[in-house]
Amino acid sequence: MPELPEVETVRRGLLPAMEGEVIEQAEVRRDGLRWKFPENMTARLTGARVNALRRRSKYILADLDTAETLIIHLGMSGRMQVSGVKIGDFFHDHQEQQKHDHVVLHMSGGGRVTFNDARRFGAMDLATTDRVQEHKMLAGLGPEPLGNDFHEDLLKEKFSGRKTPVKLALLDQKIVAGLGNIYVCEVLNRVGIVPTRPVGGIDAAEISTLVPAIREVLSEAIEAGGSSLKDYRQADGELGYFQHSFKVYGREGEACQTPGCGGEISRITQSGRSTFFCAQCQR
Ligand SMILES: [Zn+2]
Repeated sequence: MPELPEVETVRRGLLPAMEGEVIEQAEVRRDGLRWKFPENMTARLTGARVNALRRRSKYILADLDTAETLIIHLGMSGRMQVSGVKIGDFFHDHQEQQKHDHVVLHMSGGGRVTFNDARRFGAMDLATTDRVQEHKMLAGLGPEPLGNDFHEDLLKEKFSGRKTPVKLALLDQKIVAGLGNIYVCEVLNRVGIVPTRPVGGIDAAEISTLVPAIREVLSEAIEAGGSSLKDYRQADGELGYFQHSFKVYGREGEACQTPGCGGEISRITQSGRSTFFCAQCQR
């Protein structure tokens, strides 16, 4: 499932094909994915210029010159492919139409943007740009972890007196938007906090290490994603999936990589999802 760094990588990969370009033709090949597409989506997209391509949490937002914003969510298995335009060092030109290519945008710069989603948990919708933050998918989202509205004081307030395990609190999209299972595990390993610890017991000094660790872990992954856009292995134009090595995620039974620790990575389940951590250096 794509997390924030993957979505940001997709956005950056789409920029050269989409930003400032006109959607000359939108091809919409079914009536919806997770939810029905908005009415007349083909007509509302065709002829619109993409003024800006932004990201909010795990959503890509294309602001159109029609005063509407196209909201794109990749869901579980959504993939974006770009062809006919240069990304990084490569000119991508695949491709036979594939089975699950549901929406294709033919852009004025010659680029072709394809949304492929085998499991169809993804979503696309249109909303008035001025009120896009009120859209059902975006309303109630907390601050961006890489933005200025996310800071120590906010976490202190949200954590104070609560018994929620810290991993679940950081996955709560109302507290901070866009953090997912993988990167929360990595963050908690980096700061030495056990994922089951109630947030009320996390002191101010620990919170002051948590905020920069969240930013670092995400930024490193975004950097790895950025490199992937220049990588010949991505030459099929598929965006957002890149090699990135995790220290704890998916490493049950392996030696902990924290210098001098000597512990072993454990896996537990919290709210139905796997948590990876080292009981030796995370307390
Ligand atoms: Zn360890």
